[in-house]
Amino acid sequence: MREIVEGVHQLEIPMRRNPLGKTYSYLLRDAGTLIDTGIPTKKGLDALEAQLSTLGLGISDIEKIIVTHMHTDHVGLIDRIQEKTAVTVVALEEAVKVQRQWEETRETAFEDTRDEIAAWGGSDFLKLFSQYEHVFRRPRWKLEIDETITDGECLRLGSHSLEAFWTPGHAREHLCLHDAEKEILFSGDHVLPKITSHISHHAYLEGDPLGDYLESLDRVRDLPVKTVLPGHEWIFHDLAGRVSELEDHHERRCGEIIAALKGGARTVFDVSSVVSWDSRPWDRMAFWTKRMAAAETYAHLIYLRNRERLAERRRDGVLEFEAA
Ligand SMILES: [Zn+2]
Repeated sequence: MREIVEGVHQLEIPMRRNPLGKTYSYLLRDAGTLIDTGIPTKKGLDALEAQLSTLGLGISDIEKIIVTHMHTDHVGLIDRIQEKTAVTVVALEEAVKVQRQWEETRETAFEDTRDEIAAWGGSDFLKLFSQYEHVFRRPRWKLEIDETITDGECLRLGSHSLEAFWTPGHAREHLCLHDAEKEILFSGDHVLPKITSHISHHAYLEGDPLGDYLESLDRVRDLPVKTVLPGHEWIFHDLAGRVSELEDHHERRCGEIIAALKGGARTVFDVSSVVSWDSRPWDRMAFWTKRMAAAETYAHLIYLRNRERLAERRRDGVLEFEAA
């Protein structure tokens, strides 16, 4: 744990079996507020308590938790904290809508996903996929949100004054928080120093997450920021430079996808099998990793389709793409 600027402390919550290794939780000390938590493990809770105790604080000193987005590595630990003390959970109002949608689509989630795999040209995987039906039938964990905030809202928290920026892309409900006075940005997973945030899309959803993401990058690029406090990896300083790198990355990926289509790839799985992946080659990915990679490819394909850089058609239930 360390103090980044006066009254803002960075806490490390460990994450096993995840290459990121840890999530950062940020404490606004005089407001008894945490920004994000970590995954739901005893080790995570112990780490949080141990770091708070070095400041002479305990779990019961936490009054409020603001979430950047509803992925388990950021919100999972909230339940365990709430078993020990009452906290107010704050998120963007979009988070409530996203949870409502999860609930509404849960009943058909298995069928929707099965149809999507077929539409993406992955019918070879359907037999394997059908073994996971029970996972999709389980009730989904729900975050109890006590207070919602809106884009542009200013939050007064102790001596801190934070402006809320809705930054959809990595997650539709993603929130960044800017402290103009201290020139810091809590960037969640929107802007990370080295890895590129996972931007995915699904055939059963509306929208254009990659388009949203690039717009969200633009929104934060020129903020007066000296220090970026991300959800993972490490603190960094050149926000505008990192935004440009991320834009370049996605444009390169779009170029690669168009080249793949020109080379004869047609379906989402075809394209995914020939573009380059940072983690490991396509052939060595497990099925669920392949599905995540395909969802990332699909986000790029829809982005390109919406900008008329490629054409999409459906043949026998399979989506086929062709470079314009
Ligand atoms: Zn994360």
